[in-house]
Amino acid sequence: MVDLKGQYEKIKEEVDAGIMNVIESTAYINGPEVHAFQKELEEYLDVKHVIPCANGTDALQIAMMGLGLEPGDEVITADFTFAATVEVIALLRLTPVLVDVNPFNFNIDPEAIRKAITPKTKAIVPVHLFGQVANMSEIMEIAREHDLYVIEDNAQAIGANYLNEDGTKSKTGTIGNVGTTSFFPSKNLGCYGDGGAIFTNDDDLAHTIRGIVNHGMYVRYHHDVVGVNSRLDSVQATVLRSKLRRLDQYNEARRTAARKYTAALAGNEKIITPLICDNCDCHVFHQYTLLVKETDRDALVTYLNQHDIPCGVYYPIPLHLQKAYADDRYQEKDFGVTNRLVKECISLPMHTELDDEQIKFITDKVLEFVNS
Ligand SMILES: *Cc1c(COP(=O)(O)O)cnc(C)c1O
Repeated sequence: MVDLKGQYEKIKEEVDAGIMNVIESTAYINGPEVHAFQKELEEYLDVKHVIPCANGTDALQIAMMGLGLEPGDEVITADFTFAATVEVIALLRLTPVLVDVNPFNFNIDPEAIRKAITPKTKAIVPVHLFGQVANMSEIMEIAREHDLYVIEDNAQAIGANYLNEDGTKSKTGTIGNVGTTSFFPSKNLGCYGDGGAIFTNDDDLAHTIRGIVNHGMYVRYHHDVVGVNSRLDSVQATVLRSKLRRLDQYNEARRTAARKYTAALAGNEKIITPLICDNCDCHVFHQYTLLVKETDRDALVTYLNQHDIPCGVYYPIPLHLQKAYADDRYQEKDFGVTNRLVKECISLPMHTELDDEQIKFITDKVLEFVNS
């Protein structure tokens, strides 16, 4: 699904030197590399504060802790996403409220959000799924109307732009009260281990979060709030500095591959290719995900695997049907889109190193199967 080795080979000299420098410096935790990466990411995202942490799941949890959400508060998020998003809501004893998504971009449906709001609702967590921006203007409007926080789970969309109503652009993750991301190796900006970050333009929230990631300390050995231990290490930070410089180029390579996939597959009546808007910099293709109609999706997966083509089903089970998150309040009729997507979705290999020959081989095999 990804070619991390091929990508590494091209930046090996720089990355190896960076890692050796960290080892020589012995500043393994919170060293100058972490600080420099934080500043560079703030500049890239055009956001006032970046707080690095240990992974994308921690980032979500810490963001919710920072906002002071309390047990029983309801948090609305998408039914069609990775479990991390809902897991931290449940872990903090907040009440997850899963809602359906939109069939065109797979992202949380603003109408479904409106229907799910109760007097206990405190926050909305849109996930920019597969690298494509959720409908942020409507979500921010709903949040304003009902006085809710917006926490953007940007783990799959770092570098994507959102076109604001006034024509300006904002980086995803910087539009809501707080944004989070993951630097898991296969993410668009991935390190060589685990890593994550939280972004915000709110000075007070940034201060609170900086304490929370460090055991609730604002002054050494004074623990003012209950915190956690969540840090990015310097080896990961130096890798991320090298890759952040190339993030736009990496995302462009993904978009180029996506256009080629679409050029080969669009027009087949059994295949729905991902929605791509005109300039399409609102999509950074963490995944290239098709929907297949009147086709046995699982048999297609098997067929591709038999031809040594990896593919993924993200996600095979809606969260509201997972044992850990099932709830009597949910009604199947409210999850029509997710229930369909889990049966029809298939993600093709997507990374920065795909070449034309690979794309042709993959799309030929997909077409061979659906047309048979
Ligand atoms: C990867 C991912 C996370 C979790 O990130 P980790 O670094 O693996 O903890 C959270 N949300 C989404 C949407 C993700 O894709």
